[in-house]
Amino acid sequence: MSQLRAAAAGGLRRSGGRAAPPAEQSRKGASSRRGPPVPAPPPPQHLFSDTAEIEALRGSLLAWYDKCKRDLPWRTLAATEPDADRRAYAVWVSEVMLQQTQVATVIDYYNRWMQKWPTLQALAQASLEEVNELWAGLGYYSRGKRLQEAARKVVSQLAGRMPRTAEDLQKLLPGVGRYTAGAIASISYGQATGVVDGNVIRVLCRLRCIGADSSSPAVIDRLWDMANALVDRSRPGDFNQALMELGATVCVPKAPLCGECPVKQHCRARRRKLFGKPTLVPDVEDCGVGDCPLCPPAAEPWDSSLGVTNFPRKAAKKQPRVERTATCVLERRGCHGALEYLIVQRPSSGLLAGLWEFPSLPLAQGLQEEKQKEVLADHLQAWTGQPVATRGLRLIGEVIHIFSHIHQTYVVYSLALDRDVTLEPALSSSRWVTEEEFHASAVSTAMKKVLRS
Ligand code: SF4
Repeated sequence: MSQLRAAAAGGLRRSGGRAAPPAEQSRKGASSRRGPPVPAPPPPQHLFSDTAEIEALRGSLLAWYDKCKRDLPWRTLAATEPDADRRAYAVWVSEVMLQQTQVATVIDYYNRWMQKWPTLQALAQASLEEVNELWAGLGYYSRGKRLQEAARKVVSQLAGRMPRTAEDLQKLLPGVGRYTAGAIASISYGQATGVVDGNVIRVLCRLRCIGADSSSPAVIDRLWDMANALVDRSRPGDFNQALMELGATVCVPKAPLCGECPVKQHCRARRRKLFGKPTLVPDVEDCGVGDCPLCPPAAEPWDSSLGVTNFPRKAAKKQPRVERTATCVLERRGCHGALEYLIVQRPSSGLLAGLWEFPSLPLAQGLQEEKQKEVLADHLQAWTGQPVATRGLRLIGEVIHIFSHIHQTYVVYSLALDRDVTLEPALSSSRWVTEEEFHASAVSTAMKKVLRS
């Protein structure tokens, strides 16, 4: 750990020698004689502690990036926009969209967003409805909402000026975490600060044979130290993007292209795969302490059939919650004869906040069809303002949609209403829409699936 901190400050020694611990570390060591024990630093095999190697890795990675990087609209903006606030905003939007979503999907959304709201000021003036409409289909809808809230804060409280360091971005902007702050600051302002996302975790864990649970705070802390130590001081934004690009296109999860990798000569997982155990490459015994915090757990040692994909490792994922929801496609003939559907707005907080959906309600487990129709009919009455007969409800089928933490089954019903049905006037959060208007509204992907069912 102390090596990494020293490396971040430019104080590394060569040949794997340990850098002198900074003063703060010495004080901690001294006080530990009276307080709780300070954890031992990780073995050097898991770190980058050789200045020459760091320089070589930076050079190889940046040269590869210059030659192979993908042409992406946010990269063009970051490279050509002279105004620092606009540049930071352009990077910020891309980073928020790219969280949990593939680059290929994001490009079109990004272009439309930047065309509609090219500045923070424009976004601050948009309505949440407009934001949700443009975001519809990208998933994790609260991201768009939070982005807009933060933009409003910059305009109203920070005089329209984006914070200029990663620390201030994280401190002052709601919804901006350590990763996003680091990405904006390094790419837009050239601050020499690292980033750690899923791609970086994979690359670093392979480069240094880190096999402990990569989602644990202890490992994540080490990876941040490592990213901060490695980041190129003169081209931090390009370096961070290069590391992420490597993880996205070469050091991919299942079948990494090690033969084409620009940093393969620095990769300990690859060496481990090529030469097996009797080499300089460390494994649990080589760490010497038996309980190395970064090695694979002793109960799950290196599996030679997996090769470099032994790394990274994660604790088993929590199973998603299982839920069933009854949803009803109410339809009527509108005044021009076109079919119209009733959609209602979800609450402004929680899952799918503020989005529109067909009237829906959660179902208790094991509820039979007749009972489902009864509770659904009661629920529909609240929207239509008149009794709904259960015999009119027709069961269409089931639609499954997986949210990040919920395995949702929509039990889909349909109900055809007479033309003269009017909505409960007290409920403004409901409206009739044609199919075209439905698709242009802020509706979730799950509801689009329901309409197709
Ligand atoms: Fe990843 Fe293979 Fe490159 Fe190592 S050599 S960083 S495992 S692609």
